[in-house]
Amino acid sequence: MEVRCNICGKTHEIDKLDRNYERLAKNPTGVYICDGCSKMLSMQAAKDNEILKKS
Ligand SMILES: [Zn+2]
Repeated sequence: MEVRCNICGKTHEIDKLDRNYERLAKNPTGVYICDGCSKMLSMQAAKDNEILKKS
């Protein structure tokens, strides 16, 4: 199944092993965030948490 990442806009081919597959199969217009972007987002979130802790 081909899906488009909502962050970087790249298309990705995912199979049934992908954790997003079932959700997107049921809801093709659902949000998909690729592995690269989800890593980037979680790193960003961790950074934001650090900033919050310091202030
Ligand atoms: Zn992406």
